[in-house]
Amino acid sequence: MTIAYRVHGVGHRIVDVEILDGISLEIGYGRVLALVGPNGAGKSTLLGVLAGDTAPTGGSVELDGRPLGDWSPAELARRRGVLLQQNAVAFSFTGRQVVEMGRAPWLGTPSADDDERAIEAALAETDATAFADRPFPTLSGGERARISLARVLAQETPVLLLDEPTAALDLGHQEDVLRIARRLAGRGRAVVAVLHDLSLAAAYADDLVMLDRGRLVADGSPAEVLSAERVEEVYRTPVRILPDPDTGRPVVLPRRTPAEADRTSSGDAQGTR
Ligand code: ADP
Ligand code: MG
Repeated sequence: MTIAYRVHGVGHRIVDVEILDGISLEIGYGRVLALVGPNGAGKSTLLGVLAGDTAPTGGSVELDGRPLGDWSPAELARRRGVLLQQNAVAFSFTGRQVVEMGRAPWLGTPSADDDERAIEAALAETDATAFADRPFPTLSGGERARISLARVLAQETPVLLLDEPTAALDLGHQEDVLRIARRLAGRGRAVVAVLHDLSLAAAYADDLVMLDRGRLVADGSPAEVLSAERVEEVYRTPVRILPDPDTGRPVVLPRRTPAEADRTSSGDAQGTR
C-alpha cells in the first residue's frame, strides 16, 4: 500500500481543551477510510488538519512523505480536494459554476485543457447534470450536496477529504456517494469520508477510524472496529450488530424494546395517519 498520510501523535488544543489528542494513523492510496464517532468527537477538526487548513498544536502530519506544513496552498489544492461540512457558496452562481470552481487549482497548467471534460464527468457521476444550470440557492439540500461533491470530484485530486458527504442525501444517493468513493479508490485515490451511518461506513469502507472525545478509540476493518460493546460505549446507546445477509459486512441496529416501538401503548397513536 502506498501511504498518502502519516499522522503521528497529533493534538489540537483550543484554549485549555484538547479537541484532538494523540491521534496516530496512516491513510493509504487506493482505499476508502471512514471516519466515525459521535457529535463533537473531533472528526471535522481532524479532517481540517489533514487538509492543511488547521495547524495541529502537537504531533506531525506528512502527506506523500513531506511535512504538510511544507506544502504551498497551490500544491495542496492540486493534491487534495476538501468537501466541507458547511457549504457556504456565494449567491447567484449556478450549480455548474460552482463545479467549475473545482478547476481553479489547474488554471495555467496543461490540465486546464481537461476542464470541460472534468466538469461534465463530475456532474454526471453525482447525477447532477439535470439541475446544473439552476441557481445554487434554489436547489434542495440534497441537490446542493451533490453539486458540492461534484466540485470536489472535478478538482481531480489524488486525495479526497469529505466531511459528511451523505448528510443531506436520500437513501439512493447515499449509496451513490459511497459507490463513487469506491470507484475513486479503485483508481488509486485516497478517500477519507466522515460518516454517521455506521452500517453505510461498514458496507463501503476498507478502513474505519473511530474517534471519541478527541481520541482515536479504534482503527481497523469495519468488522474489527464495530463490536457492539465498543459502539455502545462510544455512542451511549444499546445496539445489535448483525452480518449483512448479502455481503457479511456488519450492520448496526439500535436496540429498541417492543414497548418503545408500540405506539398504541404510548397514547399518541390517534390521528397520525
Ligand atoms: P465533529 O466533527 O466530530 O462533530 P468537531 O471536530 O467539529 O467535531 O469539534 C470537536 C469539538 O471541538 C467540539 O466540542 C467543538 O465544539 C469543538 N471545537 C471545534 N472547533 C472549535 C473552535 N474553533 N473553538 C472552540 N471549540 C471548537
Ligand atoms: Mg463535524
